[in-house]
Amino acid sequence: MFPASEGQIGGAPTDRITLKRTHQAIVVGAGVAGLAAAIRLAAKGHRVRLFEAAEEPGGKLRERREKGYRFDLGPSLFTWPQLVQELDDFARVNRPELELPAPFAFETLDRSTHYFWEDGKSMVAWSDRHAFIQSAKEAFGSEADALESHIRHSGQSFEATRQIFLEQSLHEWRGSGKSAWRAVLPFVHRLPWLGTLHRWNKRRLKEPHLVQLFDRYATYNGSDPHRAPAMLHVIPHLEHGLGTHFPKGGMHGITRHLTALAEALGVEIQCNAPVARIAHESGKIKGVTLEKAPGEIIPADLVISNSDVHPTYRKLLADLPAPEKILRQERSTSGVIFYWGVQGEHPKLHLHNILFSNDYRKEFEAIRKTDAPGDDPTVYINISSKVQPTDAPDGCENWFVMVNVGANPDRVEDLIPEIRRRVLAKIERTLGTDIAPLIASEFTLTPKGLQDRTSSWRGALYGASSNSTLAAFLRHRNRSTLLKGLYFCGGSVHPGGGIPLCLLSARIATELTDSYS
Ligand SMILES: Cc1cc2nc3c(=O)[nH]c(=O)nc-3n(C[C@H](O)[C@H](O)[C@H](O)COP(=O)(O)OP(=O)(O)OC[C@H]3O[C@@H](n4cnc5c(N)ncnc54)[C@H](O)[C@@H]3O)c2cc1C
Repeated sequence: MFPASEGQIGGAPTDRITLKRTHQAIVVGAGVAGLAAAIRLAAKGHRVRLFEAAEEPGGKLRERREKGYRFDLGPSLFTWPQLVQELDDFARVNRPELELPAPFAFETLDRSTHYFWEDGKSMVAWSDRHAFIQSAKEAFGSEADALESHIRHSGQSFEATRQIFLEQSLHEWRGSGKSAWRAVLPFVHRLPWLGTLHRWNKRRLKEPHLVQLFDRYATYNGSDPHRAPAMLHVIPHLEHGLGTHFPKGGMHGITRHLTALAEALGVEIQCNAPVARIAHESGKIKGVTLEKAPGEIIPADLVISNSDVHPTYRKLLADLPAPEKILRQERSTSGVIFYWGVQGEHPKLHLHNILFSNDYRKEFEAIRKTDAPGDDPTVYINISSKVQPTDAPDGCENWFVMVNVGANPDRVEDLIPEIRRRVLAKIERTLGTDIAPLIASEFTLTPKGLQDRTSSWRGALYGASSNSTLAAFLRHRNRSTLLKGLYFCGGSVHPGGGIPLCLLSARIATELTDSYS
């Protein structure tokens, strides 16, 4: 059921790297990007130590078990798995002498999401393009005719821009190869450079349910479709072009695999080891100090910070001038997640389910003004036991129920009981089921919990939001201009948040280290 799938899309060259010099490297933080960066550095032959503040690796990508239920705590949607496979290839090609873990295994799904509206409309987004369009036509008639060209255009835009915007540093133009420009130039006049994602979708799709469905892709990086640039139209291609997948063991299987791969490559991972300061002298990295031994510098000539860029500057580099304009960027949305062990089986639902609000614009305005989604939230329900039955006791399901909220930990904390009430009411209005009496186990994650556990500034899910045309250019760069030997990866730096982009940030940052001597 879980073969190690083959895939070429987006795979970086896996040629053997020969370095002029190896370094003592330290990675701060074992989020998905920190683990990937450590893997790449160790595969190249550097000596790598990874310090993680929490009791185990993973950052947002961790799991919790409770009363027979297993929950992935953070990400639930997995796209572009080739970026994980690429790490296996990179390790194998560069360190053929080592015994490495079995390749990363995942299952490709036959559908992405089940969508529901309160007016009784519903549809399934099948992975098969024709089945998806058919499902939309059954729900919305001929008004779904524009769907095919809309999805095709998303794929073309993605292919034209991915090398420039996602796969290389945007701040070091010397790195941009000819092939990146060759990809973008023929399509440049067809890219949606101006306007918002909502305007783009409305102009091309017209049918309001479908417009809302495609507007939702702005939330994949924590943005508001009514303010985010139309260029985010590339995001649907991740699902409808590259497909949705489920890692063996659930999303946490990604963390487990990357941790095992890093250790097999000789990375020394220390958990419960918060870094207090990045030490430097004369504009060069010297090492780090840990909170538990503030007087001792652990030497390194190369440091990659996977910590959110905000605490990296405010805490670890408090003695350096911070890039204030970048740190002031609006944060992405955060989330409130209810993890419910639910009795009974609910056949209308599948792995990913969306219950849409009646007025998306009003919902985003409410989030902007009050940090809460208002009376009528859009509710996302993820049930991994639909794909991996062992995640819940027999006859039960593990529901991960999430709404978007503002990245404002203190304010949202007081709103949790009211948000819970609204979520339950929304589920009952849309699906016709009162879930409350069926909840057998429960815990909640809030923006404050996220901030405390992962150091994400204000509990934002994806670093800075993309609510401005220039957002892509205003993310922090992957190499420091202030300190030689300092690099950055993770969701708060270029190219942005979400597992695929975090993995790309690790690739970009570690490629930049190749020229460090
Ligand atoms: C609820 C939720 C749902 C999401 N849904 C999706 C989804 O469906 N699909 C998707 O692709 N993405 C999703 N995301 C986003 C995705 O999880 C993140 O973009 C990604 O996991 C971030 O990885 P990262 O490498 O930036 O590090 P993080 O996961 O933020 O981890 C950073 C690590 O650094 C450690 N650290 C910080 N400071 C220090 C220090 N001083 N010393 C030592 N260690 C330190 C932290 O403890 C943490 O472990 C979701 C996120 C959340 C929270």
